[in-house]
Amino acid sequence: MLYGVFSDVHSNLEALSAVLDYFEDIGVGGYLCCGDLVGYGADPDACLDRVRALPNLSVICGNHDLATIGRLDLDWFNQYARAAVYWTRERLSPANRTFLEGLTARLETAGFTLAHGSPRNPPEEYLLSAAQFRDNVPFVRRWPLFVGHSHMPLLFRFAAGGRDKVETLFLEDREEALPRAEGGFGPVALNPGSVGQPRDQDRRAACAVWDTEKGTFRVCRLPYDVPATQAKIRAAGLPEYLALRLDYGQ
Ligand code: ZN
Repeated sequence: MLYGVFSDVHSNLEALSAVLDYFEDIGVGGYLCCGDLVGYGADPDACLDRVRALPNLSVICGNHDLATIGRLDLDWFNQYARAAVYWTRERLSPANRTFLEGLTARLETAGFTLAHGSPRNPPEEYLLSAAQFRDNVPFVRRWPLFVGHSHMPLLFRFAAGGRDKVETLFLEDREEALPRAEGGFGPVALNPGSVGQPRDQDRRAACAVWDTEKGTFRVCRLPYDVPATQAKIRAAGLPEYLALRLDYGQ
């Protein structure tokens, strides 16, 4: 089966539409979302409405979602992120607020684990180094582990031949084979990149496809109407920087 894996939508409806259209075209049978549905962009309700309607969806919340519903301190947010949290909080529909309130920042199923940032500190830790991957391994029972939060398409796994060395890969548009283990997959952390605010100097929306039979993970980059998204951010009165950064993918 194919899973559409995506994260960090951040209220960017044009990018989300490009990603969901692509998933539908290739016939995915399920969806995994690693959180941060809202924050930064101008379409929180429209994005949540689309995600909530997806069939066979496993979804968790991120730090921006938690801050929006008042469950995370805003002290660590920069001024732009904080402004977007307040803006979103005032506009979110009651139904979408209730939906976010029902999510956790970590989810374990029989076939995979989702954590927004990392398994040991789901809402806040950025999983960016080999040392962090190693430290987080004891916190996972079901692999693969899917994360978001850093907005970087990354893979962490042990190099062949043991657990001495961790491999870190920056994921581009090609299939990566996942480590197998008895009854499923071995330790591997996968970040599909960000749908709505990529930070790897590539402004195209990022998402990924997990093929459970072939045992592969492939990041896909999709162009979308960036000027339309920027125009909405400006019309909403959100900080100009949040529009500008979409041009550069950072
Ligand atoms: Zn994010």
